[in-house]
Amino acid sequence: MRITLDLPDFTLDDTDPNDPHFNPGLCAGCGNERWGRMARLHGTGWLHTQTDDDTEPTCRQKALDNLQTNPLSAWQTIALHIAKYPSRHDAATIRAVLRHLTNTSQTPN
Ligand SMILES: [Zn+2]
Repeated sequence: MRITLDLPDFTLDDTDPNDPHFNPGLCAGCGNERWGRMARLHGTGWLHTQTDDDTEPTCRQKALDNLQTNPLSAWQTIALHIAKYPSRHDAATIRAVLRHLTNTSQTPN
């Protein structure tokens, strides 16, 4: 099954508190200052979606790659996105996520 997460990126503004994308702070991926285009991955935080060097993977890409090595974190992240935007996902997707989440979070007694 394939689940598509909508991770739009924004140009954050760290100087004008009245800007809708005012959001100073650090990147949750590399720990450096936020600059340029950033996207929010729920459960992780704001991540760079551009790099100085186009051959390098972005912080967003690295975070998504990293999720694939940890199924529980991946399902939890997907669940956070579905909880935030439930109308963007159909019932079958929501059901599948809940089923995977409960299966992967069970620990043997
Ligand atoms: Zn970064």
